[in-house]
Amino acid sequence: MTGADAFNPAERIAANLRARIAAQGPLPVSVFMMEALFDPMAGFYATRDPIGAGADFVTAPEISQMFGELLGLWAAQVWQDMGSPQSCVLAELGPGKGTMMSDMLRAARAVPGFADALKVSLVEASAALKMVQGRTLARAGVPVGWAKSLEALRAGPAIIFGNEFLDCLPVRQAVRVDGQWCERCVSLHPEDESRFAFVTGPVIADDDLFIPDRLRGSPDGTLAELRPGDMQVAEALAARFAADPGYALFIDYGPAISEPGDTLQAIRAHRKVHPLDAPGSADITARVDFEMLARHAKAAGLAVYGPAEQGAFLTGLGIGQRAGALAAAQPEHSEVIARQLARLTSPDEMGTLFKVMAFSAPDMPVPPGLAPFAG
Ligand code: SAH
Repeated sequence: MTGADAFNPAERIAANLRARIAAQGPLPVSVFMMEALFDPMAGFYATRDPIGAGADFVTAPEISQMFGELLGLWAAQVWQDMGSPQSCVLAELGPGKGTMMSDMLRAARAVPGFADALKVSLVEASAALKMVQGRTLARAGVPVGWAKSLEALRAGPAIIFGNEFLDCLPVRQAVRVDGQWCERCVSLHPEDESRFAFVTGPVIADDDLFIPDRLRGSPDGTLAELRPGDMQVAEALAARFAADPGYALFIDYGPAISEPGDTLQAIRAHRKVHPLDAPGSADITARVDFEMLARHAKAAGLAVYGPAEQGAFLTGLGIGQRAGALAAAQPEHSEVIARQLARLTSPDEMGTLFKVMAFSAPDMPVPPGLAPFAG
């Protein structure tokens, strides 16, 4: 970082990236994404609370309390399936504003003994969001703490959630050139060095290449996305659930079957912008490949459930009945509740794009709303 740039937070990430490119050459897409989201001073998540109606994007728990409530009941069911352990970690990866956890805990109180067993543990990269989570959960009535990572969660029985967490783990992109897979990288724009541009980088070594089986023989020009973070999550869960009983459930957007294509997207103030434009000022995500996630999990030794579409999953757990009960209690809000129900479940909105997948050790009961992975 040089000169006046160092003092301008909006320029800090771009200046850092330019310096790294000058020193090391083009950077993998995953490195660009990591810096843009998590630079400790100017990264998108590091500096602000981007979630909510007036902010950059809206997530399912912010649409309606019903989402977290149903997941709370799901958690209570798997807790019973684990033998109702007297002490149980309830963890959330990337809890955002803490809304889903708060709604889950309220619903959890319906099941005797469950809330009393819980120790809540949050894994959050953003200091700004940690503060929001602390405020949201101040009166949750159960102990709430933070852990540095999934691997650092305390030992013991655990139920672990992640909603729109996997999509922000840095993604690598591979492009097929002359029959080989090359790393897609970011460099300076050839006509304007204040901007960034995609370039094709080095060939990816075989032992570092996790191309979905069905894309392996693709023609030149094909782009495949690799998600090293998914494998790390699967391995951490497998290690945990081999020692203590537990379930993990993830909800995110992406296909059930691996598909080729560039899905890197950046959203600023509810608008799509170019992913390389003004790093740090927009949320960058890429869809989750649920087939690869399931394969990583199976390879690590986990039992896999789903994927189910979010709409079908929530409907199976009883979101229709819950919406009916809320509307009956507050008739003046019935239109709003019907609208929220549609946003979460309709195929035109989040209902089919978002998928649900869960994991446990083998030989545990199949969790509610999901079927064993068929692949
Ligand atoms: N689950 C919330 C927030 C989704 S946004 C909701 O549904 O509203 C993604 C969240 O994951 C944010 O809280 C972000 O700061 C966090 N996050 C992303 N990558 C992370 C990482 N590697 N470690 C910890 N938290 C992370």
